This record gives sequence, C-alpha cells and structure tokens, in this order.
Amino acid sequence: MKTHKFFAACVTMSFVVLATPAHAALRVLACEPEWGALAQELAGPLVDVSVATTALQDPHQIQARPSLIARARNADLLVCTGAELEVGWLPVLLQQSGIAKIQAGQPAHFAAADFVHKLEVPTQVDRSLGDVHAAGNPHIQTDPRNIALVAHALTARLQQIDGANAAAYAQRATDFQQRWQQALTRWHAKAAPLRGTAVASQHKAFSYLYDWLGVKEVAVLEPKPGVEPSVSHLQQVLASLKVQPARMVLYAAYQDGRPSEWLQKNAGVPAVKLPFTVGGDDASKDLFALFDDTVDRMLAAMGSVK
Ligand SMILES: [Zn+2]
Repeated sequence: MKTHKFFAACVTMSFVVLATPAHAALRVLACEPEWGALAQELAGPLVDVSVATTALQDPHQIQARPSLIARARNADLLVCTGAELEVGWLPVLLQQSGIAKIQAGQPAHFAAADFVHKLEVPTQVDRSLGDVHAAGNPHIQTDPRNIALVAHALTARLQQIDGANAAAYAQRATDFQQRWQQALTRWHAKAAPLRGTAVASQHKAFSYLYDWLGVKEVAVLEPKPGVEPSVSHLQQVLASLKVQPARMVLYAAYQDGRPSEWLQKNAGVPAVKLPFTVGGDDASKDLFALFDDTVDRMLAAMGSVK
C-alpha cells in the first residue's frame, strides 16, 4: 500500500516536472492536479505550471508549508477550484504570501467553480450538517462537461493576464475543445451501460460524474462530508442498501478505502477506487486518460467488457 502510494506520488511529481517548459513565461500555481493539467493543455510552453496538491492528498485539507507559500509569492496566476474546497488552507496561504494580485476576486485568482452550474447548493447553511460543502459540491472536475466550461473561462483569463499571447491561447483553445468534444462523444457511447445504475459513495465526491453519466447515488458512507463513518453508521448504510441496492461503492484515490472495503465485504458489492483527478492512478496521466480510466473502472465493476 505504502509502496504503491509512493510510486503514484512519484508519477504525479514527474508529470509536473516534465510538464514544465524550459522557456516559461507565465507562472501558474494550480491548487489541484486537474487544473494544472488543464493549464498545461491550454497554454503549453507559454506557462510554467506548479501544483499545490497531489492526487493522493485530500484537497480539502493540506498544510500551507513555507515552500508552497514561496510558490504562491512567485505565481502570476492562481488556478483553484473555489466553492470553498480549499477553505481550510488557501486563505492562510494567500494571507501568508502577502501578495495582493492573487487574492480572491483579483484577475490573477481564477476559481473554476465560478464558471459551472454547481450541484447540492444548500438553501440554508446549517452548521450541524457540517460546513465542508456550504457553497455547493466543489468536486466539479468529475464531469468532463465542466472541464470544457472551465477551459473556456481559463483561456479568457490567460488572455487577460498575458495579452501578448492572446492569439496563441485562442488557437490552443480551439484545438483542445475539438479534441475534448470528440472524447465526450466517445465516453458518452462507451458509458451507456452505466446509465440508470445505482451506486454508493464513500464521500460526496462524484455528484457531477453521476450527473453526467446518469448514475444514481443511493447511499453515502460518510455521515457528514469529511467525517469518517463509524461501524454503526456503516451498519445503517448496509441496512438501507438491502432496501435500495447499489451495484458498486466508489471512493477517490486520495481516500482511505477501508469503509468502502467494509461494504464490499458485508454487502457483496465491488469497492471501486476512482482516480478522481490527474495522477490518481498510473493510467490517469492527463485529463483525457482520467475520464477513459474512470469510465473503464466503473464498467469493469459492472462486469461489462472494457
Ligand atoms: Zn468534498
């Protein structure tokens, strides 16, 4: 387990290093790997991309270490999820950086969630329900249609920050969107057997993925977002699944899979680890491979041929 995690972390890190061009113009600091990968797709050699978290770290909570603060100080553009995903560490990082231009609301602070329709936005914030997802579900990257929307907005932002290269960004955007639309058509056809499938999730990490695929979430293992389920809570979930069965239980690569594995053992449904972002497993080397692999893993759990 440890060896595997270490290997995967190395894969992620080498991706970031290899993706860094020699003659970088714009320094981009991405909060999560998917946005680092998207910036690389959209800007290629025009950017020097650094990523604050790996796919095996919980993006809700990391430490704003001095090395990260230094990277924030040097950044020309910050690309984060927003929707309070990073509320546990980004405000501290921004404050410690002391840099005005990357503060929230500034052009150099790009929040991807501002450009998509958010799911699960609470009508009122009840602290007793946990406040992790108070701005709606922040895990927008699990729907590739959202990636297209964010790509469009990020291109505009790159053009705003780096006007000298506006034409190059436009050209790269057209190329990316063309390839992405082709991939969307391919994934849509391939994922057809998943439509209408009932699943359980360990964390509410895949609401956008389910919305895209027409998958129905019938149970969530965490009692509140970010709270590890107790055995008695898992027993309740197990009882609910007897009434409303699920075909599989899904968890993200950064999570400890034990609750899902408990359910696999006791409910007899496969526990499926999904990469969740670029670098979440060996196959998910870029955004295209991320969705290929996600769909493949779910189809494999259904017993369908890849
Ligand atoms: Zn979450």
